[in-house]
Amino acid sequence: MSRHRNIRNICYEDEDYQYEDIYGHSVDDDYGTSPSVEQFIYDRSSQQVLSGFIQTNEQIKEEEEELCRGTVQVELSKATAPVEEKVLQIPLKSPSIEFGAPKAPSVISGPVPRPTTAKIVPATPKATIVSGFLVPSATPDKSLSPVSSAETSRSESPTNIPVVPEEKTAEHQTPLKPTKKKDVMSLYEKERSGAKDRLNLVVIGHVDAGKSTMMGHLLYELGEVSQKILHKYETESKKLGKQSFAYAWILDESMEERSRGVTMDVAQSSFETATKNITLLDAPGHKDFIPRMILGAAQADVAVLVVDATKGEFETGFESGGQTQEHALLIRTLGVSQLVVSINKMDTCDWSEERFIDIKKRMATFLKQIGFKEDEIKYIPVSGLSGVNLTRKPAEPCLTSWYKGLTLLEAIDAFRAPERGISKPLRLCVTDVYKGSGSSLNVGGRIESGMIATGDVVQIMPLGESASVKSISVNSVSITTAFAGDPVVVTLTGIDVSKVGMGNVICHSSSLVNVTTRFEARIVLFGIELPVIPGFPFELHYQGHTEPAIFKKLIAQVHKGTGEVLRKKPRVLTKNSSGIIEIEVNRPICIETYGDFRELGRFVCRSSGQTVAAGLVTKVL
Ligand code: GDP
Repeated sequence: MSRHRNIRNICYEDEDYQYEDIYGHSVDDDYGTSPSVEQFIYDRSSQQVLSGFIQTNEQIKEEEEELCRGTVQVELSKATAPVEEKVLQIPLKSPSIEFGAPKAPSVISGPVPRPTTAKIVPATPKATIVSGFLVPSATPDKSLSPVSSAETSRSESPTNIPVVPEEKTAEHQTPLKPTKKKDVMSLYEKERSGAKDRLNLVVIGHVDAGKSTMMGHLLYELGEVSQKILHKYETESKKLGKQSFAYAWILDESMEERSRGVTMDVAQSSFETATKNITLLDAPGHKDFIPRMILGAAQADVAVLVVDATKGEFETGFESGGQTQEHALLIRTLGVSQLVVSINKMDTCDWSEERFIDIKKRMATFLKQIGFKEDEIKYIPVSGLSGVNLTRKPAEPCLTSWYKGLTLLEAIDAFRAPERGISKPLRLCVTDVYKGSGSSLNVGGRIESGMIATGDVVQIMPLGESASVKSISVNSVSITTAFAGDPVVVTLTGIDVSKVGMGNVICHSSSLVNVTTRFEARIVLFGIELPVIPGFPFELHYQGHTEPAIFKKLIAQVHKGTGEVLRKKPRVLTKNSSGIIEIEVNRPICIETYGDFRELGRFVCRSSGQTVAAGLVTKVL
């Protein structure tokens, strides 16, 4: 077949079968990377809208419902059985490390980024009560200079890891002894028995649905924000002619967010319910910030999806072009299964029960399609602006006449705490890096599994550099031991800031994370118009980080529900299909199989601003 044939008008379904025999062994060819195909792949003129591809309930066959669930809940053994060859995991058990010298494990194939630029940006002013992710303002440390996620994102440039001039410290020159094994479970029992469950909550929804206002008001009612601060925000917002945004400012901390009136970064704060300790992530709703939203979702255990009940506004956010469906689909594919749907701005429709029921019905149909279970979703009518039904039982007859259910706070409290991999090896995913006082370095992230304690010697992968843990804090509180599920700020000594970046994983030397440029995965394609072919370029979103990647090989098309192989080496994968594929990234990344470390084995693929697929890592190559 000519590489330069016109492939625009092909019916890929037919093509796929027709050529299977002849081309069944040609997945390694570079058919997909010819100039004409590249042009085809990069056709941005046809704006795809994810929500437009989501089928209506009637169209969904039972099997496809299963698939959606299967996206995150598939029995991986079934899915991977046909390609269950020997796993070529990179043996990084004992990387060669010379302290003080930047050394990547020699087994890593491909170029390891060498940091070249030095960039530390000054701290942005933060609200005093609402904590930032790394330097919570409750315990402000003036010496800390946060490096913004935008600055540190490796995705923007291969050399964009934050760097300061090399600063050799005493710790640098003294080899660090590996940490002795601890009895993690008994330590956990000792430290946490009787403590409230910790939950990471992401707040998602279409831009202007009222997410920041609602959560800002909730924090205020819970006493997390003082009257004085709120008054300050009211005065300032009035000056800018945006008085209705005063509560939102509690979360939208940066001035740029305030003047634009949209949430751009993942703000973070915390509050307590009767039985839970909640870390709140208020993710951006604007479509330009979906990568940041994925960062929030990747750290979340549970979610509050905010929809605007205002006539016409719910429809805008929910239908084509709105972010409600895309956000819900993303969090589901990233493993969030418990959801509160907050039907907000009910004041704008006079607390109409009819409107509430209508929205609930439409949401329930859609959420079922994308794999949420009915009994894992709660629908709560609220008004974020006036504060009705947030933390207190409502007194308004227009609501109490028909609603006897939970307040938003009660619904959040009713979330089940997810199971954590406490006894597994340490995996701390780095989502931010700050220069600390003196020669120390502050690293923020979430512990996906295991535990970390002060005094531990840890290794930062993929470079394999060692450091000691000087101190740990969770939600501004200093602690000596942190466990899986904790969002932490860890102060490290004995390591240079140039050796740590977003997307890195902190481990103990006894069990290092896999580092690779290639891995196999089971993916589920969304309703994309263009088929996926070998060489298809995309952005890999994993562990809150982004890396350029390609679909290197299409290994098999599999049944969405059962994982049974339908066809080996397909030439293309079309929309809504499922397959086992090989993915290649530009540079070595830290990744695990979904079977071993659930949180480190799932990812989302996006291309030209669209979410193309979600997947689970089945084999590290
Ligand atoms: P976000 O983009 O989802 O975070 O939305 P914001 O919290 O910034 O709110 C967008 C706009 O909706 C602001 O003008 C808010 O004052 C307004 N708003 C938020 N909640 C309510 C509500 O319950 N009722 C009414 N009428 N307006 C609200």
